[in-house]
Amino acid sequence: MDIEVQNLLRHLPSVEELLQAERTKRLITDGHPRPVVVALIRQALQECRGRIQGGEYLATEAVKQIILEKIEEKARDFSKPNLRPVINATGVILHTNLGRAVLSQRAKQAIAMVAEGYSNLEMDLGTGERGSRYHHVAALLANLTGAEGAMVVNNNAAAVLLTLTALARGKEVIVSRGQLVEIGGSFRVPEVMAQSGAQLVEVGTTNKTYLRDYEQAISEKTAMLLKVHTSNYRVVGFTKETATEELVALGRSRKLPVAEDLGSGFLLDLSAWGISDEPTVQDSVAKGVDIVTFSGDKLLGGPQAGIIVGKKELITRLQAHPLTRALRIDKLTMAALEATLREYLDFTSARENIPTIKMLTATKEEMRQAAAMLLENIQTEAGREIICELMEDWSEAGGGSLPVTFLPTWVVALSGIEGGPERLAGKLRSGDPPIIARIKDHKLMLDPRTVLPDEGPLLAKALAKCLG
Ligand SMILES: *Cc1c(COP(=O)(O)O)cnc(C)c1O
Repeated sequence: MDIEVQNLLRHLPSVEELLQAERTKRLITDGHPRPVVVALIRQALQECRGRIQGGEYLATEAVKQIILEKIEEKARDFSKPNLRPVINATGVILHTNLGRAVLSQRAKQAIAMVAEGYSNLEMDLGTGERGSRYHHVAALLANLTGAEGAMVVNNNAAAVLLTLTALARGKEVIVSRGQLVEIGGSFRVPEVMAQSGAQLVEVGTTNKTYLRDYEQAISEKTAMLLKVHTSNYRVVGFTKETATEELVALGRSRKLPVAEDLGSGFLLDLSAWGISDEPTVQDSVAKGVDIVTFSGDKLLGGPQAGIIVGKKELITRLQAHPLTRALRIDKLTMAALEATLREYLDFTSARENIPTIKMLTATKEEMRQAAAMLLENIQTEAGREIICELMEDWSEAGGGSLPVTFLPTWVVALSGIEGGPERLAGKLRSGDPPIIARIKDHKLMLDPRTVLPDEGPLLAKALAKCLG
């Protein structure tokens, strides 16, 4: 090795020396854990060593400066939580990448309450004996959906997997070809079926499936008739879907359970708000479906969970299955779910207190007012840096629900952006707090529908910082 390189390497500052520097000491007194600072120093030293070996001339003092600056920056980055709040200005209410449903006040309080200490998660306080964690929501779900029994697992994918495994493993399940749904790439009906050990029997065609198609496919190997809600697409035009009532009647006459994967978990009649193409859970239960599965964090507006309601005897079999233990819901989720379901006991409180439902039912006029307020915030903070105006646009439910319902909205549209809207969108994403926007017609659109009530001024400030 070159003598000079050897010399530079020999004179690198020691970890101890760097730890004694004033700037480093300040980092530690500011609350950055000492082991983290030591690890960052080692890492930075290693990088400098590499640069010197690569032929760069870095004298001792220069190395010291580089390292001290680097560790300050890295310590700051490292201390920020990786999972943190962002402002959703996309207008997509159930944005899967942004955590789907925003929880209600009551749900947040319930989580905090249960997180704080011990709870009666699995204890019957009357007898002091072991109780069931499903007990906390079973009566509520029965009340809201009309079903005899209920249980909850980690998510709806788990609910479907459990249903198929516990009730149809080693046997056949009949599904219409028009309902072989894929949700977000990783949940596909044929694949979940394969995983469960049940055999998929496809019937009908993509656009038409008749009752006789199911009828003809039934054999002694059949364990279940499954209906899957095409939650994220619709088959329109020359189509025929077998009515749930007909499928249930067929199931009854052949002594086969009928299961339905509803996906969204919709409980309210929102036709007055123009939302009418989503089936409700209570409707499926009333029609006699034996097992209905749906998500907790889609249109229900609660935490991530998979809810299973239906015939008591079947629910008992699901609860007793060994897979249930692996798919178990945790206490914080249970707390949030119970609180969310309680809001549904009263239509008005559900509409006003569950953010998902509130966003879904916000009228165009309400959105115009919200957009005007956001525009004002932005003009105050960054009015001179950019052209901003109000425009009409459309929001979406997202999260694989209401695929053909577009909600009329007003947005703040930013144009005349230096470097183009993509560049600004990138800067907004790495801002503090990060802001997620959408781009359309070379404009950056900020949809107030998904911006929470107190986030407007924060959004404007973060935007001004990105432009400044
Ligand atoms: C969303 C969805 C699922 C998956 O639910 P997760 O709660 O995301 O696991 C399964 N089936 C249907 C029809 C869905 O819409």
